[in-house]
Amino acid sequence: MPDRLHPVKIIGSQSYYSATASTSFARPALAAKKSAKVCIIGGGFAGINTALGLAERGIKDVVLCEARNLAFGASGRNGGFVFAGFSRGPESLLKDLGPQAAKQLYKGTVDAVDLIRSRIDQYNIGCQHTDAGVYWANWFRDQSVLTDFQKLLSENFDTRWDFVPQSELKKLINTNRYKDALYEKNSLHFHPLNYALGLAKAAEDKGVEIYENTPAISLKKSGNGWLIKTPEAEIEAEQVVLACGGYLANLYPRIDASVLPIATYVMVTEPLGDRMQEILQTRAAIYDTRFAFDYYRPLPDSRLLWGGRISVLDRSPEAVKKLLRRDLLKVFPQLGNVGIDFAWSGLMSYSRHEMPQIAEIEKGLWCGQAFGGHGVAPTTFAGELLSSAIAEGDKRWQGLSSYGLVSALKPAGFIGAQLTYWWLQAKDSWKDRMESGA
Ligand SMILES: Cc1cc2nc3c(=O)[nH]c(=O)nc-3n(C[C@H](O)[C@H](O)[C@H](O)COP(=O)(O)OP(=O)(O)OC[C@H]3O[C@@H](n4cnc5c(N)ncnc54)[C@H](O)[C@@H]3O)c2cc1C
Repeated sequence: MPDRLHPVKIIGSQSYYSATASTSFARPALAAKKSAKVCIIGGGFAGINTALGLAERGIKDVVLCEARNLAFGASGRNGGFVFAGFSRGPESLLKDLGPQAAKQLYKGTVDAVDLIRSRIDQYNIGCQHTDAGVYWANWFRDQSVLTDFQKLLSENFDTRWDFVPQSELKKLINTNRYKDALYEKNSLHFHPLNYALGLAKAAEDKGVEIYENTPAISLKKSGNGWLIKTPEAEIEAEQVVLACGGYLANLYPRIDASVLPIATYVMVTEPLGDRMQEILQTRAAIYDTRFAFDYYRPLPDSRLLWGGRISVLDRSPEAVKKLLRRDLLKVFPQLGNVGIDFAWSGLMSYSRHEMPQIAEIEKGLWCGQAFGGHGVAPTTFAGELLSSAIAEGDKRWQGLSSYGLVSALKPAGFIGAQLTYWWLQAKDSWKDRMESGA
C-alpha cells in the first residue's frame, strides 16, 4: 500500500546517478545583485538546454538559477531513455494537427536525438551513452498493436521501427512475457545526470553563469524587463525563462496551475555479473506495450536499471523497491534473489494535453515545462525553440501554440490522473487475463 494518500512532494533519496556522478559540480549561490539579458530559472534539461542554446548563438549575459543542485529534478534521476516523440503519442498528434504540422513537430524530437549525440561528441561528455536502440516489447498477443503503430510511423512520420518476431526477441530478452516487439534503432540510453552536468559545463565555458542553491522566490515586471528575487540577491533581466518542471516554481500562478506533478519510480539492482547474460543478450533499452509499462536497461557495470509506475502518491525508497521488485520478477523470475542497491522517485510535469508548454506568456516571460515522462529529447527540442526565439526571433515555438497553458484542475486533477491511471492499468490486466484464458 502507498505510504500516504497525498499529492507528491519532493523526495530526496540518493540515486544510482548521484552515487556514480563523474564530476562534482558545485556552484555557489547568487550573493550579489546582477543584471542579465536572460535569466533562466530551473536547472533541469529544459533550463540547461536553453542556456546552452543561447550561448551557442552568441548571447552574452545569461544567468541560470537552480533552487537546489543542477539536475536535482527529473533530469538527473530519469530512466535515461533518449528517443523521439512526446508524451502525447503520434496518433493523437496527427488527429490534433493534421499530417504536415504533426510530422514537423515529431521531427523536432528526432533532430533532438541527433543533437544529443552530436553534443556528447562535441563537448566530450562522458555519460555512458549506449547507442544500441530501444525495444518496444509486446506484452499482449495482439500483434496489430505493433504493426498498426509501425505503419503509422512510416506513413506519416518518415520513421522506421523494425518488427522483431518472438523467436528473435526471446534470444535477446530471456522472458516468456513478451510476444514480439518493434525495434527503434535511432535511440540510445545514457547516464542523464552526467549528461546534464556535461551540458552545463559546456554552457558555462561559453559564458553562462550558473548558481546553485538559488531559488527564485519572486518574479515581477520591472521597466521593460523582469525583476527576480533570490534569498540573498536579485536579478534584473530583459527576458526570463521558467523551466521548473514538476518542482513548481511558485512564481507565476497560471504557469504552476497548468501542470500536475506526477511521481514515477526507478530502482537499480546489485551488479549481476554473468547473470546479466541469463536475461539480456542486448545492450538496448526496453519498455513494453502496456499503458502502465515497465522500462529497463542494462548499465555498464552489469546492473539492471528498472523503472515503472506513475502515481500522485509519495513513496519511500523501501516501498519503491518492494513495488518494482514485484514488477521485475513478473518479467525475469530467474532474478528471484537479486539485491536492490538503489531506489528513488522523481517528479514529472504533466499538462492535461500531455504536450510540452513552450511559449511566451507575457512580453519577455517564457516557459518550457510539461514534458511528462518522455522529456529528454523534447527538452532538447525546447531548448532549441526557446533559445532561437530569444536570440533570433525564431517563431517555431508557435507550432506548439495549440497546446497552451490549460489549467490542470488541481486538486481534482490529481484524483482524476490517479483514477485514469488505475483504470488503464486495470484494462491492461483484463486484456492480459482474457488472452491467457484465465
Ligand atoms: C523517474 C523518472 C524517469 C523518467 N524517465 C525518462 C526517460 O527514460 N526518458 C525520457 O525521455 N524522459 C524520462 N522522464 C522525463 C524527463 O526526465 C523529464 O521530462 C525532463 O527531465 C524534464 O526536465 P525539466 O527541465 O522540465 O524539469 P526538471 O528536470 O524537473 O528540472 C526542474 C528544475 O527546476 C528547479 N526549480 C524549481 N523551482 C525553482 C525555483 N523557484 N527557482 C530555481 N529553480 C527551481 C528544480 O529544483 C529542478 O531542478 C522521466 C522522469 C522521471 C521523474
